[in-house]
Amino acid sequence: MLVKKRGYFGKFGGCFVPEVLVPALKELEEAYFSLRKEESFKKELNYYLKNYAGRPTPLYRARNFSRSLGEVKVYLKREDLLHTGAHKLNNTLGQVLLAKKMGKNRIIAETGAGQHGVATATACALLEIECLIYMGEEDVRRQSLNVLRMKTLGAKVKKVKSGSQTLKDAVNEALRDWVTNVKTTFYVLGSVVGPHPYPVMVREFQAVIGREAKKQIIREEKRMPDYLIACVGGGSNSIGLFHPFFKEKTHFIGVEAGGLGLNTTKHAATLVKGKRGILHGALSYLLQDKNGQIRPTYSIAPGLDYPGVGPELSYYKEIKRAKFVSVTDKEALRGFFLLSKTEGIIPALESAHAIAYAKKISSLLQNKLVIINLSGRGDKDMHIIEKYF
Ligand SMILES: *Cc1c(COP(=O)(O)O)cnc(C)c1O
Repeated sequence: MLVKKRGYFGKFGGCFVPEVLVPALKELEEAYFSLRKEESFKKELNYYLKNYAGRPTPLYRARNFSRSLGEVKVYLKREDLLHTGAHKLNNTLGQVLLAKKMGKNRIIAETGAGQHGVATATACALLEIECLIYMGEEDVRRQSLNVLRMKTLGAKVKKVKSGSQTLKDAVNEALRDWVTNVKTTFYVLGSVVGPHPYPVMVREFQAVIGREAKKQIIREEKRMPDYLIACVGGGSNSIGLFHPFFKEKTHFIGVEAGGLGLNTTKHAATLVKGKRGILHGALSYLLQDKNGQIRPTYSIAPGLDYPGVGPELSYYKEIKRAKFVSVTDKEALRGFFLLSKTEGIIPALESAHAIAYAKKISSLLQNKLVIINLSGRGDKDMHIIEKYF
């Protein structure tokens, strides 16, 4: 619908990669666009989403939290209840199944906070395929629990010692691996970023969130919601919720990580503060300095700490289909405790950004019907929260 020329959303997106990767992306594009129409592929994926991962996730009317905002009707889309505790598994199940159908016998991925690594290792254990996760050495130290999870699931974790020893160095290593082993290897990307066809493919795997939410809200309220609110890191949980509502009158709000404040350099508000540029194979908004170098980012929420964003969201910004805002760490923490205490649901710090923004604009939301995407649960973040008691 939105892809006019393949791989472009307006002027964003594309496939800016070294020549050696072009055949691999072509092969992936052809396989994906033919398999996604095949009944047997859809049936198998749906089988796992339902019986293994626990879909459909509930659309829960949060009465107590709503009351704390005044006269607002808030529903939470409970991706925190999906197996492994976040929406990321929707995508990794899809991609790993696709890899199997393409006859690949090896999966690689890169991970920063470790959540995508865990979701990839999970899908690989289930579908019985070898799995190697690249992770910066600094991230391995910070996220030791997720490293243990991946190893427990049978994946190998390769520490990347180059550069800043974080996500972008892990991406470089994973790409190097892919170039060398492209015949046997499938590269599982964790969000709606990267070169075509990843942004459109990952969006489709995550759009199950919005398709379900639409059916569920019609069943409960007999009408479309006024607002959808979701946090934005790379953009997959937000576009997954938004996309099926594209033609409705529903307002979309994407909430980015304001970190220590937008007037500092310590944030990850890419769409709010970034400029256009090319990163990881696509043209999109980016956080960059005057010389076009990628700026280091920061957020209390590990999953929002990324200097780029999916090209489709950049397009939504351009055509004003969605509004992008940010909340600070401090505000996110308030949202985190507010939801925990009013509903008995501990949200992921990422999702707490969406919760906090609903609180922030509660006067605007009076008498409105709102869906917030609860992208994940907060258990993984308790070591970060510890300092705030
Ligand atoms: C990874 C992650 C995010 C951010 O990624 P998107 O691609 O923007 O969805 C948000 N919430 C949780 C719980 C995550 O694990």
